[in-house]
Amino acid sequence: MTTKEIPYKIYLEENEMPQAWYNLRADMINKPAPLIHPGTHQPMTLEDLAPVFCEELCKQELNNEDPFIEIPQEIRDFYKMYRPSPLVRAYCLEEKLGTPAKIYYKFEGNNTSGSHKLNSAIAQAYYAKQQGLKGVTTETGAGQWGTALSMACSYFDLDCKVFMVKVSYEQKPFRREVMRTYGADVTPSPSTTTEIGKKILADHPGTTGSLGCAISEAVEVATSTPGYRYVLGSVLNQVLLHQSIIGLETKAALDKYGIVPDMIIGCAGGGSNLGGLIAPFMGEKIKGNADYRIVAVEPQSCPSFTRGKYAYDFCDTGMVCPLAKMYTLGSGFIPAANHAGGLRYHGMSPVLSQLYDDGLMEAISVPQTEVFAAAEEFARVEGILPAPESSHAIKVALDEAKKCIETGEEKTIVFGLTGTGYFDMVAYEKFHDGVMDDYIPTDEELQKYFETLPKID
Ligand SMILES: *Cc1c(COP(=O)(O)O)cnc(C)c1O
Repeated sequence: MTTKEIPYKIYLEENEMPQAWYNLRADMINKPAPLIHPGTHQPMTLEDLAPVFCEELCKQELNNEDPFIEIPQEIRDFYKMYRPSPLVRAYCLEEKLGTPAKIYYKFEGNNTSGSHKLNSAIAQAYYAKQQGLKGVTTETGAGQWGTALSMACSYFDLDCKVFMVKVSYEQKPFRREVMRTYGADVTPSPSTTTEIGKKILADHPGTTGSLGCAISEAVEVATSTPGYRYVLGSVLNQVLLHQSIIGLETKAALDKYGIVPDMIIGCAGGGSNLGGLIAPFMGEKIKGNADYRIVAVEPQSCPSFTRGKYAYDFCDTGMVCPLAKMYTLGSGFIPAANHAGGLRYHGMSPVLSQLYDDGLMEAISVPQTEVFAAAEEFARVEGILPAPESSHAIKVALDEAKKCIETGEEKTIVFGLTGTGYFDMVAYEKFHDGVMDDYIPTDEELQKYFETLPKID
């Protein structure tokens, strides 16, 4: 038997935790486009990537061949603290809706960081430690990734420098304090501690920052400080690889009970939780062994899949990172200030972008007030207060379950419940007070950013 034919089952430990991550790229017929160098436009090599990322992670980034990559024992031991994560049948929700649909959700919020991001943070911190590094740098928007990375770094005794988008730094002091509890050094971005930060502040005085700016600052510090590398919490191939643990566990649990989903739904910001959740199902779909409807849900105010262009673009505002071919709104795009639901990155994972372009999955965009209404409907019966990001998936799962009431179909719907929303109560407050609105960018506004896309032949 070649490695390609080994079923994932033999990689399950006794406690049903995967022993290997699943690398969907190995089974993709059209591989995701490679990252390219911002100067030469040539595909990034290991040597190009190594000054920025940890070496083992660079290898994972470029690995389109191995379908399974073993999870090191130390990482598995850490996973055991909060994994396997629960796959819950939403009986109360089904009953409340009166739907014949069967609804399941995979809950990733049962760790202190409150989201799936810890799955990749612990892997990235582990490889940094293995390489003998002193520490890592990163950016964080709402703070979930920064929190997850702070936890992972404190576990492996690594230094963690987080550039936090200034508006979040000021509005989410509790997230900031959680990070500092784990020993992270948190700087509001843009800052005067980096060259790019000073330049952005000079060009845009009073700016409250963006993810793209914070990435540029974090990369600058990583590449100019000996013993440091940069780590990223979404979008990259390596992050989707680590998140495949979500999908492998989901599939193992469903298989055990002989349940075959009709539909798999997930929210999509940079694409990591969705890429992880769908990985083994998409693998079967590509091989023609099964068929599933796979749906990405994104905000109407940041519609990368549904209104973006599939093109090479910058991953950051400072244009220092490699270029990625992805569905993008342009690296200068920042969602409207009243957008509270997260998922605000301008681009989308190259893996998911390719799958979407190949017609293997769909995308739906939803307005934020409907997302919060769905969050509330869910919270009132299922005992979990969901993150606004996760609630995008809830919204579409509810819509589908309600359709089944009319058609009488007993569809099996699985969705990813990526995290909890306890740090998002200001957004919930706006919703309850009726002061939240649904700003949707016009075609003209989007066109302005598309014109800034780099010209690559
Ligand atoms: C970061 C985050 C997301 C979106 O990120 P992806 O990379 O698209 O998965 C979704 N839900 C929660 C709770 C998050 O923290």
